[in-house]
Amino acid sequence: MNKIVYLSFLFFCFALSFKAGAQVFQNKELTITQLKDNMWVVETDDKTTMYLVEGAQQAMLIDVGTKTRKLDSIIRLITKKPLVVMITHAHSDHAGNIGFFDEIWMHPADTVLLNRSYKGKINFVNDGDVFDLGGTQIEVVHMPGHTPGSIVLIDRNAGICYSGDAFGSNHAWLQLKPLSPMQTYVNSCIRMEKLMDSGIKDLYCGHYPYVKKAFDKSYIVSMRELAEGLIHGAELGAEPYAQKVGCKNPMSVTKGEATIVYDPVFVGNKE
Ligand SMILES: [Zn+2]
Ligand SMILES: [Zn+2]
Repeated sequence: MNKIVYLSFLFFCFALSFKAGAQVFQNKELTITQLKDNMWVVETDDKTTMYLVEGAQQAMLIDVGTKTRKLDSIIRLITKKPLVVMITHAHSDHAGNIGFFDEIWMHPADTVLLNRSYKGKINFVNDGDVFDLGGTQIEVVHMPGHTPGSIVLIDRNAGICYSGDAFGSNHAWLQLKPLSPMQTYVNSCIRMEKLMDSGIKDLYCGHYPYVKKAFDKSYIVSMRELAEGLIHGAELGAEPYAQKVGCKNPMSVTKGEATIVYDPVFVGNKE
């Protein structure tokens, strides 16, 4: 084989070795799919989601799901790099498996929601903190609304935001206690829109199995318009929400792909 043919052959093999959307692991409880060359989505059978982002020096696991066997060793099949375990918020479908890990990172405003039986070290993040994974930087942005301490993680170079439940996965649940004023959520949407104007293109939500894609800016715009409409008492065709979770009679409003679930008793409260 001459050198050119050999090199093209090597390149061909490399191109085959990474296929976006390739499933790399599956058992009864979870499926891991590679979405980018350094990013994987972990989908669980109860429709929760983790994302794994790998840099040259470290990897970050974003959320840990509800209850999974051997999660730590399964993650180790994908990366052997030191792991930063980041929790977007403290609901049990995102922080349920923290017991597998010696330490976690989260926003302090969500400690009220965290399972008190966790024995590991809890490190707190603040808005603007940057985690350098080596060639990949992940920045923390505080986006309260769904919970007081909800954060999103942004990778500016890749144009990606990992949003947890901050903007929902079609449905933003804003009816759960402790309730935040609707204006708090509007402010988070406005901030997210600005980030999307400055280069963030893809929003990967916290329940990927329901959507199987990244949202774009139009989704956040719809969310903000709905939330502003609720504050101003606009006619939005509100309907009772089928799942009676979080408050007595949750209501919902929908625009395009975006639905807000809210407690009608609390919407009028202003910041
Ligand atoms: Zn949640
Ligand atoms: Zn959730």
